[in-house]
Order: sequence, then C-alpha cells, then structure tokens
Amino acid sequence: MSSSMASSLPPLPRRVGWVGTGVMGLSMATHLLSAGHSLTVFNRTASKAAPLLDKGAKLADSPRAVAEQSEVVFVIVGYPSDVRRVALDPDHGVLPGLRPGSILVDMSTSDPSLAEEIAIAAASVSCQAVDAPVSGGDRGAREGKLSIFAGGDRSTVELLSPLFEKLGVLNYMGGPGSGQRAKLGNQIAIASTMVGLVEGMVFAHRSGLDVTRWIKAIASGAAGSKSLELYGERILRRDMAAGFFVHHFVKDLGICLRECQAMGLALPGLALAQQLYLSLIAHGEGNLGTQALILAIERLNNTRLGDGGESSG
Ligand code: NAP
Repeated sequence: MSSSMASSLPPLPRRVGWVGTGVMGLSMATHLLSAGHSLTVFNRTASKAAPLLDKGAKLADSPRAVAEQSEVVFVIVGYPSDVRRVALDPDHGVLPGLRPGSILVDMSTSDPSLAEEIAIAAASVSCQAVDAPVSGGDRGAREGKLSIFAGGDRSTVELLSPLFEKLGVLNYMGGPGSGQRAKLGNQIAIASTMVGLVEGMVFAHRSGLDVTRWIKAIASGAAGSKSLELYGERILRRDMAAGFFVHHFVKDLGICLRECQAMGLALPGLALAQQLYLSLIAHGEGNLGTQALILAIERLNNTRLGDGGESSG
C-alpha cells in the first residue's frame, strides 16, 4: 500500500456510512456493525433500516447527512439513476457531504461510465470513489460470502480490505469502472447459466424424471453451479420470491447489451436471456426473483413442473 490515502485515515474501526438497506444492503451493513464499526445509515424507506438501528446504528435523513458523519460511505441501491442521485445530487448526495480524504464505495450494479464519472467527481473534491459491485445473491450477503469486484485506486481498495472482507472475497479488477465491467461479465455468464438451468429442469420434468432427484444428480457434475445451488430448490418449491429481482437483472442485462453495442460485440446468449427475462416483465413478474425464469420456459411449452408423474417437492 503506497498512497497518501492510507495515512490520511485513522486506523480501523472507522466511522462507516451506509446508503441502501434493501435485500443486499441490510445484511451487508449488519456484518460491519457486528464487526464493531460505528454505522450511520440512510434508506429511502426508513423502516427498512430499523433492524440496524436496533443494533446500534444511527439514522441520517439524507445520503449527504450520512457522508457528513462518515469517513467511508457504502452505497447499494437499485439502478444507475439511483446511484447518480445518491452519489452526486448537489443538495442531498454523498459527495457534497464528504470531507476531503474520505471514500465513496458504490456496491450497486451500475454503468461503468457512471463509476468513472463519480471517480472524477470525487477526485475534484479530494476524495476517492471505488466501484465494488458484488455477486453471490441474498444468501451470499447474509453469510458474508459475496464475491466483490473492486475498481478504483488500488491502494484505496487495499485500505478498505478489512471492511470488504467482512462481506466476502475481495477481487481488485483495475481502475475506476473495472469493478462494474467485471460484474457485467459475471451477469453475462449467469444469464445463460439460468437459461440452461431452467431448460434442463423442464426437459427432466417432461422426460418423466423426478426433478428433485435430477437436481441432486447434476449438482456434483459438470452442470453444477452457484445458480443451481441458490435457485434449484426454490424453483422446486415454486418459491419465486425475490432474492434478486427480475427488474434488477433486466437492468443489468440492458447495461451489458449497451456495452456490447459500443464494443461491436455479438453475444447471442446474452440477448436471448434478456428477451426471456423481458417476457417476465411483460407478464407482470418483474418483482419476482430471477428463478422465475422457469415460468417463461413453462409458458413456451405449456407445461408446469410438479404437474404429471414426477414429485418435485
Ligand atoms: P433492493 O432490495 O431494492 O434494495 C435497494 C435499496 O436501495 C432499497 O432499500 C431502496 O429503498 C434503496 N434505494 C433505491 N433507490 C434509492 C434512492 N434513490 N435513494 C435512496 N435509497 C434508494 O435491491 P437489492 O436486491 O438489495 O439490490 C441492490 C443492488 O445490488 C442492485 O443494483 C442489484 O442489481 C445489486 N445486486 C443484487 C443482488 C441480489 O441477489 N439481490 C446480487 C448482486 C447485486 P426502498 O426501500 O425505498 O425501495
């Protein structure tokens, strides 16, 4: 670690701020609180921050107010438009509230170009910004086992590694925007994995196999995957509640496709998955979890897991 940032911050524990206490943020912030860091939080719907307040966090009334009381502010909100508002709004945003030498960490999945813009804006007020989106789902967040893809100044990322390590495994990917680019590649890999998983389940079902037994059988072979671990059982239980919202995945795949267009890159598996997920939104299923992709493949084939001979419970 070589940057002057390292010496301008006091040793851990630091005053930590957190914006966004939804499915992911609530669990992640809880790990930092449990590790003994003092935490100031803001969420648009204040009631969703209540479990943190019960454990000793302080509530602030804006992202700016969080920043005014923090040396490092983590953000994990929904869409790039939310990231822009939370980070950059001149009246209520994080950046106008940060003191020089402080750090903004955006852990939402967002546009690489926005991450670069925020890094430049942060540098202009003598602060640092890191883009650090995550993978591993609601379970990874609860268990502190996320994969973290960090972009930004290396020494700043290293400085924050004791905090990141409470949330999962830290991977430094390069300069500003690199964390988001790594996450987009991750989403492209997941998109076709999800299509393959639900297509395999529908095939097993229509072949008359016991899908529960089939899931167990493939889990330890070459078709085993984190997607299968996270969602196989949920699909069998027809539990479509969101760990990861369809709306958010469609947002991610849209960013991926725009990046591909700019690069002149043809990724047909990505485009197919995005179309199938869009069809869920057309059916009013955007607030379900991404495992609801099974519904699209079932509709295409006029079939439903659990109907017919096999037991899928
Ligand atoms: P979520 O449950 O909707 O949480 C987002 C939180 O941010 C909500 O509490 C929301 O407030 C708050 N928020 C949104 N816009 C805001 C704004 N403009 N100002 C203040 N607060 C705002 O979503 P999530 O599942 O935690 O996902 C968060 C991010 O992580 C997304 O970018 C998603 O793509 C990414 N991600 C999710 C997963 C997953 O498995 N869930 C995995 C990896 C990455 P309200 O409570 O008022 O809605």
